[in-house]
Amino acid sequence: MTQSAKDIVSLGVYPTPVERLPTLGTDKTALWVKRDDLTNPVYGGNKVRKLERLLFEARRREKKRIVTVGAAGSHHVLATALFGAREGFAVDAVLTPQRETPHVVENMRADLALGARLFTARTYPGAALGMLLHGGRDAYLVAVGGSNVVGALGYVDAAFELADQIAAGALPEPDAVVVTVGSGGTAAGLAAGFALAGLRATVIGVVVSAPAFAIRFWTRRLAREVFWRRAHAEGKLVRTDPARRLELPARWLGAGYGEPTEEGRRAMAVAADVGLALDLTYTAKCFAGALHYVQSARFSNVLYWHTLSSAPLAPLLEKAPDVPARLGRLLRA
Ligand SMILES: *Cc1c(COP(=O)(O)O)cnc(C)c1O
Repeated sequence: MTQSAKDIVSLGVYPTPVERLPTLGTDKTALWVKRDDLTNPVYGGNKVRKLERLLFEARRREKKRIVTVGAAGSHHVLATALFGAREGFAVDAVLTPQRETPHVVENMRADLALGARLFTARTYPGAALGMLLHGGRDAYLVAVGGSNVVGALGYVDAAFELADQIAAGALPEPDAVVVTVGSGGTAAGLAAGFALAGLRATVIGVVVSAPAFAIRFWTRRLAREVFWRRAHAEGKLVRTDPARRLELPARWLGAGYGEPTEEGRRAMAVAADVGLALDLTYTAKCFAGALHYVQSARFSNVLYWHTLSSAPLAPLLEKAPDVPARLGRLLRA
């Protein structure tokens, strides 16, 4: 099977804008932002580009259901509930425990309002097993975060989109692209895509989930797989290892996935001053990294790739039920 640029269900509005953040740059380094918060007006962020590929693949295989996994407040599960239902699929998700925050509770309520069937597991391996148990001939199974080869191909498309914006003069070619790494599909797709599009940027994937060694291993492997898949589909013979342009620092992770850090909180305040809303689980830690790389003067142009939806959740919560007790057990104090 080959994947071409047309193998998508169209969900997003592209290209997403690129903007300069002049007050946060230095004499040596300019800071830019790629606004993937705006991929869709109802629910944006980085899951949209992945689902364009994943839902296409599910339809091509004539599946009726999507079965996926995530933490209780998973953005990926919410995006799958929304766009999966919109494209005519039933959506089942197996959720794992997460620290309780208002954001997590809202996401679970939105999942329910969108008609997703939610199941619980105590651990991530348990959730993976649960996904298999809820599978079947009619089901398309989607990995955590939508980060399999098919999903990550959406970020190869995004790399080509950025190449077009650079060619059109919207921004200078960045020498570093800083992006959050949860399950790694976004960073892997970008690294593979930049290699294919002839862009030189180092992809700095700020690791926000644990254990970091496993996340690094998986992200590098995914970058290679996606690269070969796409290079093969296009009949290109490019001899390069896209994983070599990936740096995967874990120094902004703190105590673990979903555990806020002081540095993250500070970065969140800095971003709020320039009109960029961040979250403590993913983007605050990543933006702390981006600010560090600007200050380090190692690069001329740093592009922070924004992955969090900025669409208001209120419309999705209008008819949302409360979280029932059987799901409330997932929420840790
Ligand atoms: C899911 C998510 C990420 C992580 O993306 P991966 O491709 O899983 O690494 C980053 N930021 C936000 C806001 C997300 O929802």
